[in-house]
Amino acid sequence: MKTGLVILREQAGHETGSHPENARRFPGVIDRLGEDSESHGLPVLESRAAEVEDLARAHTESHIANVRAAAENGPTWLDGDTVASPESYNVALRSAGAALVGVDAVSGPAKAADSLFAIIRPPGHHATADRAMGFCLFSNAAVAARYARERLGIDRVAVLDWDVHHGNGTQDILYNDPSVLFISFHQWPLYPGSGWIDEVGVGEGRGFTVNLPMPPGSGDREHIEGFNAVAGPILDQFNPGLLIVSAGQDGHVADQLASQNLTAAGYHALAAASAGFAAGKGIGLLALHEGGYNPNTLPLLDHAVYAGLGGFTPDLAGDSPAPETGDNGWPERLAQIRRAQSAFWAV
Ligand SMILES: [Zn+2]
Repeated sequence: MKTGLVILREQAGHETGSHPENARRFPGVIDRLGEDSESHGLPVLESRAAEVEDLARAHTESHIANVRAAAENGPTWLDGDTVASPESYNVALRSAGAALVGVDAVSGPAKAADSLFAIIRPPGHHATADRAMGFCLFSNAAVAARYARERLGIDRVAVLDWDVHHGNGTQDILYNDPSVLFISFHQWPLYPGSGWIDEVGVGEGRGFTVNLPMPPGSGDREHIEGFNAVAGPILDQFNPGLLIVSAGQDGHVADQLASQNLTAAGYHALAAASAGFAAGKGIGLLALHEGGYNPNTLPLLDHAVYAGLGGFTPDLAGDSPAPETGDNGWPERLAQIRRAQSAFWAV
């Protein structure tokens, strides 16, 4: 399975100061994944700027104009934790554009790889159709899914979101859309508060939103069980033509923004399972970076994801051990999730 990177060289132009989502997150990641790319002979692609019409497939014109104006007058706070600096709009266009480069390169006529990992910020999955929130300006995943549908004619796209926070923005945009399956693993309760089991889509989109609210203290085992019991079978039945992964590694045991216990081995396993699914269907996989806020551990975690996508052996030395977890209610939660989804899928 040939993987590769999409790099956003302009990322530091989105200046957020001492905020957790800042320009210091990625230099170590790009160094480590650059070494992996070189030693395994993997392609490293450059981002491009998305067009306004690309964003407009997922966002209202007023939201796009608001982000642009906020950046021009920046720094401006768009919500309590989302800031736009003067270059933020341009960097956000290139962050979404990296996702489009990725869609083309794993699915288009000029296919360059089976999968790609786009190292992009600002992240996207909290941005709704009409507002920025939670460090996110535009939903890169929803923009990419709609582009794949409309520009490449891919009938069904799946988005798998394993960031520790619920991908409320991506869900909001796709909620009534049966052509894009949205599956989210997230700690619950946690910011932004949405993502309970009964959020399953609306109208024609009913049954095409799958939420796995994970109890606090969940780690590798719970996430892999959730993949094997729910996400994997539903992906298989939906039978997408492209898999987009919203890859946030902020459920790691050493990440301060949540209380999950995932390790690098768990992220490697989730990435390998996703890549195995895509390979089995013969479809492209595009992983888009979402959260992950400990700059000391993020290079290792993203290396683990990259190795899982590409099928090469990761070096997970130096990872933090996960504590022994007692009963956190996961078996009952998994049974609840299966009961709710069994109305739509064989799970
Ligand atoms: Zn997150």
